Amino acid sequence: MSGYFTELFTGTKSLAIGLGITIKAFFQPVVTLQYPYETLEMKPRFRGHIQLTQDEETGESKCIVCGMCQKACPTGCITVAGKKPEGSKKKALTRYILNFTTCSLCGQCVESCKPNAIEFSKDYNLASFDKNDFIFDLLKRLKEKS
Ligand code: SF4
Ligand code: SF4
Repeated sequence: MSGYFTELFTGTKSLAIGLGITIKAFFQPVVTLQYPYETLEMKPRFRGHIQLTQDEETGESKCIVCGMCQKACPTGCITVAGKKPEGSKKKALTRYILNFTTCSLCGQCVESCKPNAIEFSKDYNLASFDKNDFIFDLLKRLKEKS
């Protein structure tokens, strides 16, 4: 008979402890997200693929087509092209392709760009079955954004 009461006591105690943990967790702040309906905001140091930055006045790319990023990239994943518009001494960017499949996010391109025309994006939500989806036309993306 005493065994019965001991079992009843330990069972009730364990139930109370379990419920206590559940109730405590219920009132704690939520740390998970309903992905993919909700997404995280990345920290400032996060490195996503590079993207072109925008000149605030003109809305155009700040790129001066110097080619330094292309030269600095150890895996050759950047292709830059530009041409001088008629009557202008400066080149204008006509093409900026990033092959993200070979990018190691080393940051050499961003460091070598003196006009700060490129930066790391906060884009982490990338998935595809086709690697061609990771060849980005960054100039087109910039134009779509503005
Ligand atoms: S982060 Fe590095 S590997 Fe990626 S594009 Fe820039 S230089 Fe190339
Ligand atoms: S280093 Fe900067 S300015 Fe020069 S081509 Fe690359 S993105 Fe453009």
